[in-house]
Amino acid sequence: MMLTGMHVAIIGGDARQLEVIRKLTELDAKLSLIGFDQLAHSFTGATKMYIDEIDLSDLDAIVLPVHGTNLEGKVNAVFSNEQIFITEEMLLKTPKRCTVYSGISNSYLDELMKKVNRKYVQLFERDDVAIYNSIPTAEGTIMMVIQHTDFTIHGSRVAVLGLGRVGMTVARTFAALGAKVKVGARRTEHLARITEMGLDPFHLQDLEKEVKNIDVCINTVPTMIVTASVISKMPAHTLIIDLASKPGGTDFRYAEKRGIKALLAPGLPGVVAPKTAGQIIANVLSQLLFDDLKKRKEKA
Ligand code: NAP
Repeated sequence: MMLTGMHVAIIGGDARQLEVIRKLTELDAKLSLIGFDQLAHSFTGATKMYIDEIDLSDLDAIVLPVHGTNLEGKVNAVFSNEQIFITEEMLLKTPKRCTVYSGISNSYLDELMKKVNRKYVQLFERDDVAIYNSIPTAEGTIMMVIQHTDFTIHGSRVAVLGLGRVGMTVARTFAALGAKVKVGARRTEHLARITEMGLDPFHLQDLEKEVKNIDVCINTVPTMIVTASVISKMPAHTLIIDLASKPGGTDFRYAEKRGIKALLAPGLPGVVAPKTAGQIIANVLSQLLFDDLKKRKEKA
């Protein structure tokens, strides 16, 4: 599998993008790097340039940072001081075949991509990426629990809320460390799976009752679920780690008022394992680019 003949622009991003650059240059893609001018390291096959220097008419793909852009279209680039914006005018100069990749999207990008009618892929929406990412997320959660408690995870009573891709990995990982793990879900097949995993299942509608004797609560449900009335039932020493995407699913105001430590912990893979997190993106992205190239060759 090689990407010879593919021209890819990597626009902005953090350390994770270095793994993408490494992998794609290894696979012989031609790379234009925008937003990397302050990076001392150089890669063979990759050319650093400024946004106004790139030949957009020749691009097969644009790779944006994990967060895409902000709501004004500005790209975060930790290796540059340049102000980089993704605009309609710019994307319209790319060939029709040009695919745009980001981790997650926002209203600005959704709207823009509809207007310019280019293929747009959000890598973090893929099941495989979410499952691979759940591994560094669980490790980051362990780090946070260790940092913010004075007891061992082993033997502690941990409630995990949600049995999605993150919840399942977190529950399994804490159980493997010797915690007594209970998992809250709302679907009967999830309750069955929790039982199969050797953990204690409970229905999320019983959450208030179930938090009365826990030491740690780890939320993965992206909706307000750890409410004031749930928090009021927890022992005072309970640590709440909220992994759900911003703004989380915890009433942080009430937790603070009650003196219960509650922490929103976004983006753990990029924090605890940027290299692995970058490799996860690089592996999936290179496969998608390769599929694209193959399809194009078949058509030609
Ligand atoms: P997921 O696979 O969709 O799992 C979400 C879980 O929440 C599912 O079990 C779902 O149950 C449950 N849920 C959703 N809405 C609910 C509701 N209203 N009431 C009860 N349960 C509900 O998502 P994921 O990949 O595990 O990710 C979970 C969250 O973590 C997301 O917000 C994601 O962005 C975030 N995340 C954070 C990090 C980090 O570093 N902090 C890393 C990765 C992901 P049903 O199947 O019954 O709907």
